[in-house]
Amino acid sequence: MTSLEKLDDFLGRPLGLVIDGAEAPAALGGEFDVLDPATGTVITRVADGTEADVDRAVAAARAAFDGWSSLAPAARADLLWRLGARLEELAAEFARLEAIDNGKPVAEALAVDIPLCAGLMKYYAGWATKIEGETIPTAGGAPFHVYTRREPVGVVAAIIPWNFPLLMCGYKLGPALAAGNTVVLKPAEQTPLSALRLAQVIAEVGFPPGVVNVVTGFGPSAGAPLAAHPDVDKVTFTGETGTGRKIMTAAAGNMKRLSLELGGKSPSLVFADADLDAAVEGTFGAVFFNQGQCCIAGARVYVEDSVYDEFLDRLVERASRVRLGSGQAAGTTMGPLVSAEQRDRVLALIGSGLAEGARAALGGIEPAAGIGLDDGYFVRPTILTEVTADMRVMREEIFGPVALVSRFHSEDEAIRAANDTAYGLASGVWTRDIKRGHRLAARLRAGVVWLNTYGWFDVAVPYGGFALSGFGKELGREALDAYLQTKTVWVDLS
Ligand code: ADP
Repeated sequence: MTSLEKLDDFLGRPLGLVIDGAEAPAALGGEFDVLDPATGTVITRVADGTEADVDRAVAAARAAFDGWSSLAPAARADLLWRLGARLEELAAEFARLEAIDNGKPVAEALAVDIPLCAGLMKYYAGWATKIEGETIPTAGGAPFHVYTRREPVGVVAAIIPWNFPLLMCGYKLGPALAAGNTVVLKPAEQTPLSALRLAQVIAEVGFPPGVVNVVTGFGPSAGAPLAAHPDVDKVTFTGETGTGRKIMTAAAGNMKRLSLELGGKSPSLVFADADLDAAVEGTFGAVFFNQGQCCIAGARVYVEDSVYDEFLDRLVERASRVRLGSGQAAGTTMGPLVSAEQRDRVLALIGSGLAEGARAALGGIEPAAGIGLDDGYFVRPTILTEVTADMRVMREEIFGPVALVSRFHSEDEAIRAANDTAYGLASGVWTRDIKRGHRLAARLRAGVVWLNTYGWFDVAVPYGGFALSGFGKELGREALDAYLQTKTVWVDLS
């Protein structure tokens, strides 16, 4: 069987939860439809997990914890490496699965989601054998041998969104497993398929049962009991800021550790001295990559007055070349949004901007119909101008293919506008002036600053936001630290 035939096989029957290495129906017997966002048709059905399933999954993760955390680090490393290598072999299958379930173009999943996820597993495989404590001389000189141990936190609940379904599994599983934790993973209800297929691959490469459990289901009925569960030690969450707040509250009961990667409203600053070719292409990617469904989307674009008209014309021209279509069709450069709800939300925000006086230089609220896209959840690439800081569309996260372009006249005005947000995830600056670039990097209130580029990620480079964008870095060594806790050991030498 080729990997794509295997995919047909995988999707040919309803999919259960994965608990303690076995597929299981939901305790209450419920299932829900998974839809193809390009057509609105049902792909398959998956188990609708609820509190009883969360209980079983957490119990399985707890039971697996002692064995997994005491396994030789080299054995954990070996399993993670094998998982990464197997994902590379299955790249075509996973890319197709993401296109069917999330709507993104296969080529983008093949270029970004799958290799980055595989790379994460291999990167954290390397860390599994390098988790070290320290010896600390007492400052007061008392005769003690004091050392630290870096221990896993325990059972981790990973609650993830739908914009990068497989990749988000990697962000959480890589460091959590390398550190010796066991996991209950709750994929988004819109996109549960790649997590379920990943669980099969995890079993196939030899991870012990219970180390990774997957509970599919909805936020209130599956996510909420997981976030509140008294036997979960840490929640790692990526999603909306409002949901992050609920998770923080739910986690308070037993003082769970938290990593929260939340929303954003990131600025891109284009100065007159920038390489305009690079700035147009970079800003286009910053706004429209992944149908704009990125928490880092650099949707607030501020352009220096003297190049504003030229930049706008060129951005409009670039975005006009987008080819909307099914993510599975060759030649598609932008797929549908993930769900009808998401499409309606984005259109409503565009509409609110227009009602408040913005002008559509491209796109708008008319449906992307008439080109075979009537049933899917498509939104045309949209560029709004005449936007002002107080408009709803300028303050709320859009999570769709919408650029908001306005002008500035000075560096101070640009930085004030850029920082005028309750979020603080990412930012971009386009300038040839190296001094200005670094000056702004220090003044931008955001967890990431991209200078003359936008949206680059690397498994070794920490990523995460300030303010309402959350806390607890992903990727790199800092993410590993977030899945470990320090124990100090005192030995009397007197
Ligand atoms: P969106 O509204 O864009 O789907 P969310 O932040 O609501 O973004 O969803 C991200 C993840 O959080 C999903 O897996 C979702 O099921 C889950 N979720 C939603 N509400 C809750 C909640 N109250 N508690 C825990 N998880 C939740």
